[in-house]
Amino acid sequence: MTWCAICLRKERGFGFSPRTTGYRDLQDSKFCSMNCLNLYAALFRKGNGMVDLTDFERASIHSCLKPLGECVAEIGMDKPLSAYSKEQVLTLIEVIVTAYQDAMRKGSPEVPF
Ligand SMILES: [Zn+2]
Repeated sequence: MTWCAICLRKERGFGFSPRTTGYRDLQDSKFCSMNCLNLYAALFRKGNGMVDLTDFERASIHSCLKPLGECVAEIGMDKPLSAYSKEQVLTLIEVIVTAYQDAMRKGSPEVPF
């Protein structure tokens, strides 16, 4: 199974090949939707093929901090991650991934839709 390079959902046949832009050493990427593909293409053009985080991607990651903190507080601040149940870990992952997807889907002036 292949995952969307932007939101990590299951890809659904949308693809981007850096080779068509002259970057022959980079691998193709798959996406769940045209929204995620267009976002990736815009980020690719902006970064000229570099994989370093953009300000938008970094801001999207930072937007996960509050939901992550709320989830951890609900589980118990004194409970170490190694003591989390499988369901608690899965919930934490879902909270973070959802927050990241929501932030990325909002777009930014850096990545116009
Ligand atoms: Zn996606």
